[in-house]
Amino acid sequence: MKPQNLRLFIEQIHQQLPKTKCYTDPADCTAYGYDNSRRQSLPDVVLFPTSEEEIITVIRLCNHFSIPALARGRGTGTTGAAVPIYHGLVISLEHMNRIIEVDAANRVMVVEPGVLNSEVQEAAARFGFFWPPDPSSSATCSIGGNLACNAAGPRAIKYGSCRENTLGLRAITGSGECIKTGTYTTKGVVGYDLTRLIIGSEGTLALITQATLKLIPLPETKRTLQLIYSDIHHAAAAVSRIMSQPIIPCALEFMDKACINIIHHRNGIEFPINSGALLIVEIDGSTSTILNDLEKVSAAAEGEGLLEKRLAKTEAEVKNMWQTRKALSPGLRHIAPKKINEDIVVPVSSIPTLIHALEQLSKKYQIIIVNFGHAGNGNLHVNLLIDPDDANQQQHAEQCLEEIFNLVVNLKGCLSGEHGIGIEKRRFISKELDPNALTLMHQIKRVFDPALIMNPGKYLPDPTL
Ligand SMILES: Cc1cc2nc3c(=O)[nH]c(=O)nc-3n(C[C@H](O)[C@H](O)[C@H](O)COP(=O)(O)OP(=O)(O)OC[C@H]3O[C@@H](n4cnc5c(N)ncnc54)[C@H](O)[C@@H]3O)c2cc1C
Repeated sequence: MKPQNLRLFIEQIHQQLPKTKCYTDPADCTAYGYDNSRRQSLPDVVLFPTSEEEIITVIRLCNHFSIPALARGRGTGTTGAAVPIYHGLVISLEHMNRIIEVDAANRVMVVEPGVLNSEVQEAAARFGFFWPPDPSSSATCSIGGNLACNAAGPRAIKYGSCRENTLGLRAITGSGECIKTGTYTTKGVVGYDLTRLIIGSEGTLALITQATLKLIPLPETKRTLQLIYSDIHHAAAAVSRIMSQPIIPCALEFMDKACINIIHHRNGIEFPINSGALLIVEIDGSTSTILNDLEKVSAAAEGEGLLEKRLAKTEAEVKNMWQTRKALSPGLRHIAPKKINEDIVVPVSSIPTLIHALEQLSKKYQIIIVNFGHAGNGNLHVNLLIDPDDANQQQHAEQCLEEIFNLVVNLKGCLSGEHGIGIEKRRFISKELDPNALTLMHQIKRVFDPALIMNPGKYLPDPTL
């Protein structure tokens, strides 16, 4: 980016948009240069648009002056996707935060990208609905960010991620064109599926300005079970048994022994002696069938190694069980503030193989590896508790990660289940994607964004390397 271009760009921005919608002072811009990856890079300009027209204007200026443009939700992403590594413009969508319509008859909600996930859930609940994607960060992350990362959460096992729960979008492409994708209806086969292409593309193709979300009726009732096994292998076998019977849980979460120990020591929660792994299984449905479903899931959970089975009897007990799960991330951050957190996915039946291999890698590289996550999808958060400021540990961690990713691909798995690629995983994705598909993706990127201004340095690997 040429300094002269930047100066002319800022002049144009000031001429064409109200000054109140734009920051250029580094002291103001600095808060828009980080995300939860803990990386940081200062943007030159931060813009707070309130309309598509303003976004079209600035994207066209970015094309004209070759200025990088980065859409920002709330910066809770964990991969550096929202960090403006080449500086330039950050477009913060926080003021485009209207819920435009809740259409209960058609089970649809139309929103602007800056609405928080929790605000969508609250608005939907008033009409007896919910929107399935439920990242743990729901109180602080935006729908635009959710869509750009194809975010999910515990409920994805039964209800899917953003891709399965979004009918259509409005978006501004990298060349500054406004496009409408998808449908307002739950069926529709006209045209290529640009909605699913843009969802999960981390702002590298287009900036999402509106979304038509598919709503699901809130279930009448839920039941929550906590299961404790003697070791991870018996718990993994139980996950396979639960998943191979006809009732789909609405959550099936997993924690290994290290996680149980951390929660015991930090939060004072008691577990049976020799607890080696914990599952939280939740089922939802109608009051007339829930007990029958519970019986089946409960029977599938029975088996060798089961130490304790607890059914939550009150709302407070349900809350406590989930509190166990939610206490984990802060607990781990306390122990290893700069830990590496991967969110790999393997077929559910391969979880025991993966866990066994992770134990071997932990010994080989002398790194504590702690695992928890959405076992029903085979989506495990693998945490390497290292201090990256220790060069030796960092080098071991890099070698260990390389082996973990190779293992995941060999098990027909996926390098990221929900956190995305950003900067962190960019150099690894050619392990999973075949070269022809990758070439096609680079070509698609150029069709949407000919000047390559949209969130450069993220997602796809550098084609010149
Ligand atoms: C404590 C914690 C728990 C988490 N738990 C989960 C979890 O359970 N499941 C999960 O999936 N994730 C989880 N995350 C990750 C993160 O919250 C999600 O990825 C979230 O979707 C990011 O939303 P955001 O608004 O913060 O986006 P940002 O971090 O601001 O941006 C993320 C990406 O989206 C792009 N983007 C943002 N808005 C737009 C837009 N309007 N148009 C185009 N691109 C856009 C950005 O350019 C960037 O590439 C967690 C994070 C934290 C900190």
